[in-house]
Amino acid sequence: MSECCESIVSLFGTNVFNDVTMRERLPKNVYKEFKKTMAEARFLDSALADVVANAMKDWAIEKGATHFCHWFQPMTGLTAEKHDSFISPTAEGRTIMEFSGKELTQGEPDASSFPSGGLRATFEARGYTAWDCTSPAFIKETGKNITLYIPCAFCSYTAEALDKKTPLLKSMDALNVQATRVLKALGGTSKSVAATLGPEQEYFLIDKKLAEKRLDIMLTGRTLFGASSPRGQEMSDHYFGALHERVASYMHDLNVELWKLGVAAKTQHNEVSPAQYELAPVFATVNVATDHNQLVMETMQKVALRHNMVCLLNEKPFSGVNGSGKHNNWSMVTDDGVNLLEPGSTPHDNMVFLVMLCAVMRAVDKYSKLLRASVATAGNDHRLGAHEAPPAIVSIFLGDQLMDIIEQLASGGAKSSKAGGQLKLGVSTLPQLPKDSTDRNRTSPFAFTGNKFEFRMVGSSQSTAGPMFVLNTIVADTLKEIADELEKSTNVKTSVQKILQKIAKDHKKIVFNGDNYTEEWAKEAAKRGLPNIKSTVESIETITDAENVELFKTHKVLTKAELKARAEILLDAYSMTINIEARTAVSIAQRQIIPAAIEYSGILAKTIKNIGKAGVESGSQKNMLEKVCGLIDSLSNATECLKNAACQANSIDNTAKKAENYRDVVKPAMALVRKAADELETMVDAKIWPLPTYAELLFVK
Ligand code: ADP
Ligand code: MG
Repeated sequence: MSECCESIVSLFGTNVFNDVTMRERLPKNVYKEFKKTMAEARFLDSALADVVANAMKDWAIEKGATHFCHWFQPMTGLTAEKHDSFISPTAEGRTIMEFSGKELTQGEPDASSFPSGGLRATFEARGYTAWDCTSPAFIKETGKNITLYIPCAFCSYTAEALDKKTPLLKSMDALNVQATRVLKALGGTSKSVAATLGPEQEYFLIDKKLAEKRLDIMLTGRTLFGASSPRGQEMSDHYFGALHERVASYMHDLNVELWKLGVAAKTQHNEVSPAQYELAPVFATVNVATDHNQLVMETMQKVALRHNMVCLLNEKPFSGVNGSGKHNNWSMVTDDGVNLLEPGSTPHDNMVFLVMLCAVMRAVDKYSKLLRASVATAGNDHRLGAHEAPPAIVSIFLGDQLMDIIEQLASGGAKSSKAGGQLKLGVSTLPQLPKDSTDRNRTSPFAFTGNKFEFRMVGSSQSTAGPMFVLNTIVADTLKEIADELEKSTNVKTSVQKILQKIAKDHKKIVFNGDNYTEEWAKEAAKRGLPNIKSTVESIETITDAENVELFKTHKVLTKAELKARAEILLDAYSMTINIEARTAVSIAQRQIIPAAIEYSGILAKTIKNIGKAGVESGSQKNMLEKVCGLIDSLSNATECLKNAACQANSIDNTAKKAENYRDVVKPAMALVRKAADELETMVDAKIWPLPTYAELLFVK
């Protein structure tokens, strides 16, 4: 092995208190007891917690850590941390370094300033963090600060979830219970099932000096102005293109940071738009993968600054070129390592596979609105349905061969043409499925890709927790229905056959293998009765539908009050995002663009006057001046309108009405401001124009 490879191997996970470290550091009996507690999902007993905490502290201190923090994921979609040092002063005026089991397992941060959707009034500020021991603790180095991070769930004094992790963990439990029941009913011996996730993360890198000259990029993470660059992505030369040196060095440093944190960063490449890239890690269980994705997003931004670049995770940093998504590759794996979405080569595996496939199909069809709502954000509205990402219509891509099987299941068993053999509907004679039984379909929102599903609607800046707890729960729901029937059955094979036939018949309408970007599909989807919920606001309004309340209650993932609070928080976030964008647009228009345009009109007027004095008439310069002055008027008026619209929207009390107002009044007003400003950009002297252009932002390497 080369030195470099050796160093990667020895570097990987060095900052993680992982299983290997635990085995080395904990007394054997403690290690065993700890693992048992974890496997049985029991509460950690306090004596045991003290020993684990002490070992963790010693390890962290050896690595230079002075502090620890409970690291949690409030409803902002970001992470939160409050640091405490290990020091504990002694009576003699000295100090020792201490870390108790209680400090490890529980924290009490003030919760009053996190969004709670009305669950917790400010005067009841108490919040609790609780260690999620299924995601390993790790050390993060930030400048000189070295801190032990403890992944945590976060809830209110009255035990309502105030975070993204709690429902995610609960949804994993629900999926585990129901999938294990189904497997058992089918004759399997697996003891548990975990959901797995491999999120592909797209991002942009922009030169820092240029980004700093743009208030919109600094405050909103995206450009609110900018005429299109003479060159965009039309040459398709960036996708998978050779990495530029500065970016390659960035990716190297990023990988090293991530590897230290135990994040298995694996794939990296140029994406479709100029200045756009992607990173994909090797998949892990959904809660670890979700924690890791938060670290990926944070580290991407941190490392970019070291390279004098800014990393943009916004869903639509630039209009006219592709935005960024986060493809969530999802599957289920048993404790004995079997991927339940692996088609397999024996009839028994096929039976398990087909049951799981149909379960996902029913879940996605029945709860398509909820799945749509799980990716509803102001940023994602620019992306979904814009011919660069899946439309807002949820459908599943299965590929021809699997579709053929579903058709045959639905019709009660016919001869298979495409599966390359005869398909009789006796479950024991299901066909052998080749491993790569699907082609690729990049336009589908939810595509089967060989042995996993890829949910492609997720926005690049979103936490993966929301979409994943929804997916886990809706699949758990279908599996529950199947398990209920199978457990009652006296002939499992006949029952499976009946169940699959019914699901295939009732839900095959959700399958679409064609081009999701076309107008015809939108029409066809409407004919099939599939919802097409275009905006975030309408989408969020469906979250509290009775069937969703029932779903989350049945599987003990969220109470009605928690669900309502979440919808409220999402709507609020939508309004706040647009409000910040509107105010930023007003500021840039008034303080930068209008003054620059006025300066340019002054230059033109002076020139016209001067050349007039010299006895020359310049028609074209007069035209230019008139056009510039006209645009200054339009921009001033539009800016005034936007300012008033944002102010008025902000004063509305009702959360839903407010969000609707931002969508229906403020967003269009912002578009008018941009239209006039972008037109001015194409006319005003480049030396005067105050903002770096799209060409510079996208092409300066
Ligand atoms: P693509 O060709 O679709 O862009 P990538 O290699 O970029 O694929 O990413 C695929 C992602 O899917 C990786 O993160 C990979 O680890 C993940 N993945 C593979 N198998 C599974 C699985 N069984 N469950 C969840 N994720 C998976
Ligand atoms: Mg990829």
